[in-house]
Parts: sequence; structure tokens; C-alpha cells
Amino acid sequence: MTLALFDSHMHTPLCGHAAGTPTEYAQAALDAGLSGVCFTDHMPMPAWYDAPWRMRLDQLQEYRDSVLAAREAFAGRLEVRLGLEADYHPGTERFVEGVLEAHTWDYVIGSVHYIGAWGFDNPEFVAEYDARDLGSIYRHYYTLIEGAARTGLFDALGHLDLPKKFGHRDPDGYAALHALDVVAERGLSLDFNTAGWRKPVREAYPAPDLTRAAADRGIGFVLGSDAHRPQEVGSRFTDALKQIHDVGGRVVNYAGRVRHG
Ligand SMILES: [Zn+2]
Ligand SMILES: [Zn+2]
Repeated sequence: MTLALFDSHMHTPLCGHAAGTPTEYAQAALDAGLSGVCFTDHMPMPAWYDAPWRMRLDQLQEYRDSVLAAREAFAGRLEVRLGLEADYHPGTERFVEGVLEAHTWDYVIGSVHYIGAWGFDNPEFVAEYDARDLGSIYRHYYTLIEGAARTGLFDALGHLDLPKKFGHRDPDGYAALHALDVVAERGLSLDFNTAGWRKPVREAYPAPDLTRAAADRGIGFVLGSDAHRPQEVGSRFTDALKQIHDVGGRVVNYAGRVRHG
């Protein structure tokens, strides 16, 4: 029996920095032999937060309609689910909660893309890594990850060790392990995000040692390519499965925000 694989992290052009229609992503998934996909485009946030990188609130219905149209077009061939990649940024929780409660979603990723006002995964601001102490960057970042886990708003945390994106690796790792304790305690999963293999760090999120630490804590992994183009759908899933299974981890996915697998 072949494993029913889902790619549960992909975007649409509504975020302003992705190409390809939902139908094209779905076709790419079908061609890659996947059983299903879950769209998780960058969700609307309060107007003051990171507006150029996400759909506006008044585009949310268009997003839902475009994904649901792909669901219909691929019925019986590929399961198409509807989710969101939310941001966790202190002060925005009530707005996020409002969007999540206004509609039904299959799966919601909680991601941290900002430490304070610094968009640390934006190549434009990479010089800031040299202006700060790397250990304190990671401590601050994982405190935010714990905050995200504690909101109860999300099913999984996005790209766990994202600050390594440009090659700035965590010098100690204790804050990460503490965050994983909180993730396990709150029953969340991790987005196993293969986009890291396409970035300067050349490593998936999470790193192999954190994959092991998460598996040891019973945390499940949701496979995601973080595709911003249809050609990226299902990218390096064989390598992802190997990294997860090598440490006894398990793959899960979500439908109606209920975990499977
Ligand atoms: Zn994006
Ligand atoms: Zn992200």
C-alpha cells in the first residue's frame, strides 16, 4: 500500500509573492503522486502588520472560493483542503481569532516571521543578524514560539527553526528544546517544511537533531513544501520522510482541524 501523502503548506498569488493558480498547484500535486494538498496562504492580519506579504481581509472570500473551486475540479482524484498560515505576533491574537472563527478551516499553521519589528527571514534585513547576539536572537525567537503554542489558535507551528534560513545556526539549542516541551504539552504538531532545502542553509525545518527531539516528545510532523510556485509542490518529500522515519517520528495531517495519522 502506498502512503497517502499530503502537501499541507502552499501559497496562492493572493499573498502577492507567489505564482500559479490553485488549480495549477493541485495539478502539480497530482503529477507528483500525492493524495492531497492543503492550501495555507498567508492570512490577513491587522492592517499595520506586514501588509505587502499577505492577502487583505477583503480578499479572504476570493481565497476561499479559488481553493474550493480547485477542490471541485479535482474531486475524486486529489483531496484539496483549505487552511491558512497565520502569523503569531503579540497583540494580533484577537484579530487572528476573529478570522479563524468566521469560517471553517481544515488546518492552521502558526508562524513567527518577526522578532519585534524585525522581519528576520527577509533577505533585505539579513545584516541585522550581525548587529545582534545570535544566542539572544534564538532565545527571543523561541519565547515567541512558546507564546504561539500557548494561544491555542494553531494546529502546528511553521518552520520551527526559521532563523537559520541564511546560515545563522542556533549556538546552544536549549531554548529550542524548551519550546518543544511546550509544543508537546499543548498537543501541537510541527510543519515539516522542505523549503529550507531550497534556502542558503540547505536544511529542512526542523533540523535533524530537532526532528529527533520532537519525535522523542511524541510530536507529529505535517509535511509541507511551502510552495510559492506549482513546481515546488511535494518538493523533497522522500528526503523528508527519511529524516522523520530515521528518528521514529510520525507524519500526520489535518482535516477540519482534526488530526489524522
Ligand atoms: Zn510566503
Ligand atoms: Zn512562513
